[in-house]
Amino acid sequence: MNASDEFTAFVTRELQSLRLAGLFKEERVIAGPQGPRVRLADGRELINLCANNYLGLSAHPRVVRAAQQAMDTHGYGMSSVRFICGTQDRHKALEARLSRFLGTDDTILYAAAFDANGGLFEPLFTEEDAIVSDTLNHASVIDGIRLCRARRYRYAHDDMADLERCLRQARADGARFVLAFTDGVFSMDGSVAQLDRMRALCDAHGALLGIDDSHATGFVGPTGRGTHEHRGLLVDGAARVDFITGTLGKALGGASGGFTSGRREVIELLRQRSRPYLFSNSLAPAIVGASLAVLDLLEESAEPRRRVMDNARWFRAAMSEAGFDLKPGEHPIVPIMVYDAPKAQALAARLLELGVYVVGFFYPVVPKGQARVRVQLSAAHERGQLEQAVAAFRQAGRELGLVP
Ligand SMILES: *Cc1c(COP(=O)(O)O)cnc(C)c1O
Repeated sequence: MNASDEFTAFVTRELQSLRLAGLFKEERVIAGPQGPRVRLADGRELINLCANNYLGLSAHPRVVRAAQQAMDTHGYGMSSVRFICGTQDRHKALEARLSRFLGTDDTILYAAAFDANGGLFEPLFTEEDAIVSDTLNHASVIDGIRLCRARRYRYAHDDMADLERCLRQARADGARFVLAFTDGVFSMDGSVAQLDRMRALCDAHGALLGIDDSHATGFVGPTGRGTHEHRGLLVDGAARVDFITGTLGKALGGASGGFTSGRREVIELLRQRSRPYLFSNSLAPAIVGASLAVLDLLEESAEPRRRVMDNARWFRAAMSEAGFDLKPGEHPIVPIMVYDAPKAQALAARLLELGVYVVGFFYPVVPKGQARVRVQLSAAHERGQLEQAVAAFRQAGRELGLVP
């Protein structure tokens, strides 16, 4: 066997072991736009309860039109990175608008939030510094911290006493700067970080505080600015967190793109040193134009935000009444706890047959014995669709002995 054949045989065994362990991910092919209902390539129509389309903007006519108009005025692609010849007036406008929305000085755009997190820590912190991180932080935050030479400390999820232990330890170990970093909202639980308490602890121990607000920007908080607003850390329009990373790929239109927002000088240094910014292409004009339209829409009307939270409240109440075991909360991420992995898979599979698109999550995505079906509500869901979904859940739940 030559090297290529030998390697392919190795990869084939790896794939086989994923299949045997039940960890192989199948992709279902959608033939049309993202939305509260989707049509699969095989023709089936499903009520979609698993998109991050919180504000229902993924195929919103005004957003699509703005993307088309941006292509008319600013072209299709930039064929450059930002610092060579890839910065348009609209990139600067979007950075300014995001900063105003979040309550920061300045914002730097990336191709994805994954890149924002990948390029945040390494340029700013060295082996003299310490980063304190929640164990359930997103993969991109974990990878970003790995790329950086700072000493690493991890606290048990949402455990403020353990966070304080880490902050003390980092100080005792002589760190120059200490940064605590957390997801604003955790994607598997819909739980919201206790940023007010984190800020107080960070202040007490002289630490910086940063958040990845990918599941919050646009709809969490009284005016949708995110977890910092929800937790009272947006004071006189100014964010009381040092760094906010986020995505344009969820509530804010759902195409792609990410950002880091914070103090002017910090963003300036990131533009000089952040590798995913320096060595990857500028955000496409269509996405920039559409994102500006999304911010217009959100500043004009509280309606999409009100609708998604309303749908989440209604759905939680209806599912509890049906006898399902939900993780409590208010976020439009609603985990339906099944605990047993094969049962979670069976529930998702049966719902798909009944016309409801949901996904089961189990170890290693969530802890062992914590398998669940995760539902995500959207502003675009109509009450009738949600009623239909709950009826399907009831039927499938009864068949599997999950509810009476
Ligand atoms: C989805 C998500 C990301 C990745 O966002 P992209 O823009 O798609 O790369 C990063 N962090 C968190 C917390 C997320 O939920």
